[in-house]
Amino acid sequence: MQTKELLQQALNRADNNHRQLAAEYAQLNEHLNVLVEAQNRTINIDQLDEQITCPNCRCTMWRPFILPGCGHSFCYACLDYWFSLTLTQYLTVHPHYTFGVPQEEQFQSAPPSAHQNMLGHQHNLAPPYSTEFSPPPPPYICMRCNAPVKTEPIDDFALQAIVKIVAEAKGEVEPPDLNTTPAYNVWYHYFR
Ligand SMILES: [Zn+2]
Ligand SMILES: [Zn+2]
Repeated sequence: MQTKELLQQALNRADNNHRQLAAEYAQLNEHLNVLVEAQNRTINIDQLDEQITCPNCRCTMWRPFILPGCGHSFCYACLDYWFSLTLTQYLTVHPHYTFGVPQEEQFQSAPPSAHQNMLGHQHNLAPPYSTEFSPPPPPYICMRCNAPVKTEPIDDFALQAIVKIVAEAKGEVEPPDLNTTPAYNVWYHYFR
């Protein structure tokens, strides 16, 4: 009787151990699956390449700028060239447009001398209150979606960090002239 009870207890213990081991085995197997899955997950460089490339000139955007209106990003050179085209065209139609002087100030400055001289502007302004005197700002648009661009582009620092990682992983080297960000506002001539 005693032997039978002892045997029963031993059997129960073995059964418990077996169940515990089975649970541990299942858990370890799950961890292993997670590890294998993580190892198999790779980043597709070609897909990322599309994201770090300027949609206009297809170069690596080492210093991308984002357009606040639509969220599209371009390299500095493309945006600068694109805006300069718009501004040049605009100035042929509105030769009296004074970029660098806020529109309201252009309106208030009648006669156009005091603060103009103060700011050192050489532009020959038309008489106050004529349409020529206070033209609207140049109609800059996004070269991808044509959305109006009313304020200056912003440094896209998040994208810039990704560009650095991906481009360097591909063996590209950042051009030395882009390592330093100019302290001045590079869009001054277009948006102020
Ligand atoms: Zn570009
Ligand atoms: Zn856009």
